[in-house]
Amino acid sequence: MTLHIDSLFIGGEWIPPTTSHRITVISASTEDEIGSVPEARDGDVDAAVAAARAAFDDPSGWSRWSPDRRADALDSLAAELESRAEEIARRVSAQNGMPISIARQLETAFPVAIIRYYAGFVREATFEQSHPHLLGGTTTVRREPLGVIGAIAPWNFPQALASFKYAPALAAGCTLVLKPSPETVLDAVLFAEAVAASQLPAGVINIVPGGRDTGAYLIEHPGIDKVAFTGSTVVGRQIAEICGRLLRPVTLELGGKSAAIVLDDADLDLATIGEKLFGATLLNNGQTCFLGTRILAPRSRYHEVVGVFEALASSLKVGDALDPATQIGPLASERQRERVEGYIAKGIGDGARLVTGGRRPAALDRGWFVEPTVFADVDNQRAIAQEEIFGPVLSVIPYTDVDDAIAIANASDYGLGGTVWTCDTDRGMDVARRVRTGTIGVNTYLPDPGSPFGGIKNSGIGRELGPDAIANFQNTKSIYA
Ligand code: NAD
Repeated sequence: MTLHIDSLFIGGEWIPPTTSHRITVISASTEDEIGSVPEARDGDVDAAVAAARAAFDDPSGWSRWSPDRRADALDSLAAELESRAEEIARRVSAQNGMPISIARQLETAFPVAIIRYYAGFVREATFEQSHPHLLGGTTTVRREPLGVIGAIAPWNFPQALASFKYAPALAAGCTLVLKPSPETVLDAVLFAEAVAASQLPAGVINIVPGGRDTGAYLIEHPGIDKVAFTGSTVVGRQIAEICGRLLRPVTLELGGKSAAIVLDDADLDLATIGEKLFGATLLNNGQTCFLGTRILAPRSRYHEVVGVFEALASSLKVGDALDPATQIGPLASERQRERVEGYIAKGIGDGARLVTGGRRPAALDRGWFVEPTVFADVDNQRAIAQEEIFGPVLSVIPYTDVDDAIAIANASDYGLGGTVWTCDTDRGMDVARRVRTGTIGVNTYLPDPGSPFGGIKNSGIGRELGPDAIANFQNTKSIYA
């Protein structure tokens, strides 16, 4: 069934767009058209920013509500999303090719947990505290909501990555204009319906579906007080330059090329670690920013490690994203598949050994599929080890000892995720401490809503999630009396 939407969710209402431009969404699994929505252009962004500004400036409105009342509204949004969970998961999956089993967890249950975390946090938080002024008198420190947030999300986890932004922003008392990626605008319609049915006042969240031009117009808009961006490093750098010129606060969650360090004592039995290894290296068809796509293998067990990844990749069920048995779905777009195939060709051309995969699955003649692919004997300096591929392609790189493994892990322009695989957790923790990265797992990897998430180097600036993320959306004001 195709879904055609004629209006935009702005100011708490569904209003007609200012232009006739539309975004058509194609299913990654079938290449069929599955829906279309109006594309928000400059006039629509102006209306969305004006609505968010009016909601923010309302003297008895959202930003002035007590934290408890805001928390109740956040909980009501979580409940509305939960009641639409299956529909949201199916829409995400149909659009970007995420296996439905993953979409059910990470695109519905996970954002709901994040919203509830910030609702709980804001109930306990103190936004005004007084202490003696060091030179006499009293200083009161207030944490005030920053204002109107321009939030931009990518297509790979559209619901989760939007919630990383709006949940703490709302908890802080901000209002938002959210721009989803053109590949994933249909789930954003369900999100808008959930917002409309929740206790959030009109104008607190406004949605402007659009591509690069809409995003560029939004981040430069004079009515925006802060930008929260997740996407590629190339675009993040452009946004950072613009926000630098405007002196506009910005957080950037960008790309990654993380290392999965297999220590010489690791349990390599796929029956025990297969699911966790899959989640840390191939989740969402390889289209996940934190994946450890550089597998660092000790020379003493090198052939064994290559064999384990060969067995893992070749055992995965590749198919339609909506099939509950599917573990690897298609890539999100034809362009994305071309990019991934380009890297596979480059890997072969650069002398890496193709162990498994590398082609389009013979049995699937529709959809943007690529077989899960493993390269061995990869030189860490080569493009497939240094650049983010964003597809199901792993590179196994040999190392001699732990110091060498850490040096290779850190020889990257990125620093977002990573994992260490070992039977000795203390040893794993020691290695994890030495890797230059924003997040890392020992024998597992799953972002924690209650702890900071983000990267260093080309993986971004700032952190989302956890208690600190609320500060991204606050102005700290000191009042001396
Ligand atoms: P992208 O940078 O092309 O687009 C991201 C978003 O920015 C989209 O909504 C897009 O429409 C918008 N955009 C594009 N050009 C813009 C411009 N000039 N100004 C303003 N907005 C603009 O990235 P993508 O291909 O959609 O997503 C994949 C990338 O996102 C990967 O590099 C991945 O690693 C990264 N990512 C990072 C994280 C993280 O938390 N660090 C999480 C998921 C994805």
